[in-house]
Amino acid sequence: MALPKFAFFRGRRVPYSEARVGVLTHGLNYGTGVFSGIRGYWNDAEGELFVFRPEDHFRRFLESGKMLGMELPLGAKELTDALLDLLRAEEFHEDCYARSLAFYADETVGVRLHDLTPEVSIVALPYGRYIDNEEGAHATVSSWRRVDDNAIPARGKIVGSYVNSALAKSEAMRAGFDEAIVLNADGHIAEGSAANFFMVRNGAVVTPPITDNILEGITRRTVIELFANELDTTVVERTIDRSELYVAEEAFFVGTGVQIAAITRVDHSPIGTGRIGPVATAIREVYFEVVRGQRPKYRRWCAPVYGAAAVRKAPGPRDKRGRIAAAGR
Ligand code: PMP
Repeated sequence: MALPKFAFFRGRRVPYSEARVGVLTHGLNYGTGVFSGIRGYWNDAEGELFVFRPEDHFRRFLESGKMLGMELPLGAKELTDALLDLLRAEEFHEDCYARSLAFYADETVGVRLHDLTPEVSIVALPYGRYIDNEEGAHATVSSWRRVDDNAIPARGKIVGSYVNSALAKSEAMRAGFDEAIVLNADGHIAEGSAANFFMVRNGAVVTPPITDNILEGITRRTVIELFANELDTTVVERTIDRSELYVAEEAFFVGTGVQIAAITRVDHSPIGTGRIGPVATAIREVYFEVVRGQRPKYRRWCAPVYGAAAVRKAPGPRDKRGRIAAAGR
């Protein structure tokens, strides 16, 4: 994987090689950070790169930070501007993925969340598929349970909790599956290792409620809205039993990375026909048009990198109090 050319780091865009931290960094030692993953979609007809719902991703990013007591000097709008500036500098003319991170940057020993200073970084890379088989993934029910909200906030994207996701993902892949389905501590379906879960049961589209210890996914929210507006379907948010996997008509993962990926087998049993079904096919079609800016109704979710946004400026350097200098806004 080629490294990025630039990073947004310490309040400004720098060469990627300058975005470095010391080994004592708190976030690296204790997982005291939060992050976001945002996709950019290249629209060939318009010659434009559209970033999908950046401000919504950054709002969750800031909320996740708040759960760790972080006060960041940047708002969702300023983070979006920094991201768009970075993507222009990278000159991407293809699909890409941006990773933002806010972490406690102090080089100090002592596990805590207070009296620490957060730093923000953003980098971006060209990016295609996350799961090789988006039209027919084979999933396994993980032996690892989803982190509980009373252990590490489950609704937020907290760095440390991704050990939980990594354990589930590697266990699944080493056993020959594409993805894991992770149950929560109650034994109900939570989500994938890094994606939310939907199924079709008796004709109804069902997804677990946020309170079942799932991440508050932006794609999940998008998909619920698209089902209602475009496919005349109200998604039912309810607790899902493990055994429903074996009798569901369809199942699929949704997430920024995974996009919408059909699960066609679970632990060697076919889900429904064992092939991608009509509901997953329909929502995928709508979703891919929306994210590429091809549905005018949803253009408000798609931030153009080169077009109208080209005149927007990235935040400038911070002043002494760590605020972004007004001239750079
Ligand atoms: N759950 C987990 C654990 C994730 O890491 C992700 C990816 N961010 C998702 C769900 C999907 O969230 P989103 O749609 O916001 O990318």
